[in-house]
Amino acid sequence: MKTVEIKTDHKMELVDITEEVRREVERSGVGEGLVNVYTRHTTASIVINEDEEGLLKDFLASLQRIVPDDIYNYLHNRIDNNASSHIRSLILSPGVCIPITAGGPWLGTWQSIFFLELDGPRRRSFAITILGE
Ligand code: ZN
Repeated sequence: MKTVEIKTDHKMELVDITEEVRREVERSGVGEGLVNVYTRHTTASIVINEDEEGLLKDFLASLQRIVPDDIYNYLHNRIDNNASSHIRSLILSPGVCIPITAGGPWLGTWQSIFFLELDGPRRRSFAITILGE
C-alpha cells in the first residue's frame, strides 16, 4: 500500500489523482490485477468521472442541492458543524477498485479518478493498493 498526502484549498474540491494512480500501477509491474484507491476520511470520497470543468462544477452544485448545508437542524452539527459534509461522503464512497490489464488501470477514455474534498481546506491522504501478478 502506498499512502499519498495532499492539501486541499477549498471547502469542496475535486483533485484529479489519475496520473498518481497510473504511475503507481506501472511502478508495481503488475500486468493483470486490481488497484484500490481508498481514503479513510469521513468527509471525503474517491470518485471516477469525466474531467470536464463544467461537469465538475455541476457535480459539486448538485451535491449541495441533494444535501443542503443548513435547511435542516442536523444533529451532528452540535459536535463540529459539518453534518452535510459527512452525509455527502456517505452517499458516495470512500474508495474505488479498478481492474488492471496490460500493466495499466482499465479506465475509459473519459474516466479520471478524483479525490473529492467535502470539508476543506485540509491536509488529506489516500492509499493506493495493488493486487495481481
Ligand atoms: Zn463531524
